[in-house]
Amino acid sequence: MTISNTPAMARNPKYIVFTDWDGTVTLTDTNDHLTDNLGLGPERRRWLNLQILDGNWTFRDAFKSMLDSVDTPFDECVEMIKRDVKLDPGFEKFYYWAKANNIPVVVVSSGMKPIIYALLEHSLGKEAAEDIDIIANDTLVREDGSWDIIWRDDTDFGHDKSICLKPYNQLGDNRPVLFYCGDGVSDVSAAKETDLLFAKEGRDLITYCEREDVKYTTFGGFRDIHKVVQGIVEGHGTIDQAVENS
Ligand SMILES: [Mg+2]
Repeated sequence: MTISNTPAMARNPKYIVFTDWDGTVTLTDTNDHLTDNLGLGPERRRWLNLQILDGNWTFRDAFKSMLDSVDTPFDECVEMIKRDVKLDPGFEKFYYWAKANNIPVVVVSSGMKPIIYALLEHSLGKEAAEDIDIIANDTLVREDGSWDIIWRDDTDFGHDKSICLKPYNQLGDNRPVLFYCGDGVSDVSAAKETDLLFAKEGRDLITYCEREDVKYTTFGGFRDIHKVVQGIVEGHGTIDQAVENS
């Protein structure tokens, strides 16, 4: 086992919960919020989202175009996010329950790590923000406050979420049970590397799961995820029972 590409294995957990950030842990997508309010606006942003869904634009190019339209200095963007964006009301309780049960919660995001960290610290405090591993793109902030996204990899996603999950999936017989929570198209590749996908009700991810025959269970908020994960951990339910479309 190599610790280097499976950092969440450090405390030898039996379960790991990977989760998307925007629209999954947060109630509002932070990048959409910046784009809609400080950048090219909701209409063009929705059009770009459709281009991604239809395969006309890569996620990487469309997302970059949205972020490039935001001229506001980075620290002001962070302050706006802290002011306006709330976490799912069930996330904090779930996180502390998971921590008490040696279950790492790992954020896997197509967004930017400094924004995720800042909102986590603002919402749950510094200790939790330090404790939660965040696998995401980075940000280059220049002295004048202007900024750019630094992609995590060279794929069309900018950050192919399956790349960081694959080493966990390949750990062998004693590998932990892997959960994944998400709501969007970028979560499909990640879900394929895990044992149970929680897909947010009413979002694009469910359409993709049906189309690509990926097993999932729907959730409305982290209270639902908490209930199912705790049930499995405590032996009241199984992954197969949780899957809705088998
Ligand atoms: Mg999302």
